[in-house]
Amino acid sequence: MKIFYLILFLSVSSLSIHAQSAILIKNINVWDGTSTDLHTNIDVLIEDNLIIDVAKNIKTPKGASIIDGSGKTLIPGLSDAHVHLALTMGMSTIRNEADWMYTAVRAAKSAENFLMLGFTTVRDLGGPSFGIKKAVDEGLIPGPRIYPSGAFISQTSGHGDSRNRNEPSTYWSGNQMHSIDALGWSYVVDGETEVLKASRENLRKGATQLKVMAGGGIDSEFDPIHSIQFTSKELEAAVQAAADWDTYVAVHIYNPKGAIRALEAGVKCLDHGHLINEDVVKLIKEKDAWLVPQTFWTTAPTDFWAPGMDEIPPRLQKKLTPVLEGTVHAMNLAKEYGINIGFGTDAYGSLGFEELALTEFTARTRWFTPLEILKQATSENARLLSLSGETNPYTEGTLGVIKKGAYADLLIYDSNPLENIEVIVNYEKHLKLIMKNGKIYKNEL
Ligand SMILES: [Zn+2]
Repeated sequence: MKIFYLILFLSVSSLSIHAQSAILIKNINVWDGTSTDLHTNIDVLIEDNLIIDVAKNIKTPKGASIIDGSGKTLIPGLSDAHVHLALTMGMSTIRNEADWMYTAVRAAKSAENFLMLGFTTVRDLGGPSFGIKKAVDEGLIPGPRIYPSGAFISQTSGHGDSRNRNEPSTYWSGNQMHSIDALGWSYVVDGETEVLKASRENLRKGATQLKVMAGGGIDSEFDPIHSIQFTSKELEAAVQAAADWDTYVAVHIYNPKGAIRALEAGVKCLDHGHLINEDVVKLIKEKDAWLVPQTFWTTAPTDFWAPGMDEIPPRLQKKLTPVLEGTVHAMNLAKEYGINIGFGTDAYGSLGFEELALTEFTARTRWFTPLEILKQATSENARLLSLSGETNPYTEGTLGVIKKGAYADLLIYDSNPLENIEVIVNYEKHLKLIMKNGKIYKNEL
């Protein structure tokens, strides 16, 4: 009798340790994130948060739950390398009107929105997203894996200097930061010493890469698009601080002169880059750096640029027009030279704008095949994210691929997105299952 109970106990306890969290997805067509085509009728076995086998006819582990994937396509979770989870309102609203707890709740909602579109990983390129990342990782709220940058690092008058016209510089006002900047929105700094301090402050809080404003922006009032921001020495200071943490700097830049200065200072990633020329693209290639452009901007609705307005205000339009007009030329060059291209959308400014991130898939078909675009949004982005080296918070599994030892971040669609990228865009119709870290967030199978 005693032996009977012992055997019962052992079998029950081994079940609870090993089998209960196993999920076997059977007979599914798999795109693994790198191959040129689907692998048909494959089984994928997930245990806890990892994929532990991808093969034909995997034996069902005891107690595993089974998902029948017949006729469906399984791909790695998508990633967006340029989001601002905390920027769900205009910067002036956040600064001057919104309660910061309200702003945080909206950021949590934005994180959930991204996940439910199929984005299981995002790189947050500015704004206080450390707390959101922590809450997601702890399972308090649904959201993607987050690679946070922390506060924008901007020079006085730069793209991250969001003071209003009558607000004095901290230099003349006893070094009192605006309360919102003190919460980690933007560090407005000048000179190598201050750049180092801002960089190290972000790294201390958990930044996985740094975001530096290297040239004029669209929705900032005082910095023309052609302006170059930060001297070479200042940029090198940020690059050095990042490198000492084994990570890298990404910059906001449109104009070519600022892009070249940044690359020569050791910056690894140019975000936007819509006005770059052949010299810049050659230098990106030579330095094995990255470009993260936003091609959907050329077709984005007015509401995206001017939320709640019928028309884009002339001041904004004046800055926007050349950037949009440069996009095609920049992308033609990027394609021609075969540089590293990340998938990042910068789809921020209002809750619901996350959906615009999916329109980037459509917009890129002008230059790339669905396969190339899907690689950019999965395995290529994973390569970009891995530049964060020792600061990378997600090293238990591989990201952006479906293979043994990868994180169980995966999506199941009812048809093949390699044949038609609109399958990804029309997610409400086609996206049937979302799994992140082994946990299912949507299941219509
Ligand atoms: Zn941005």
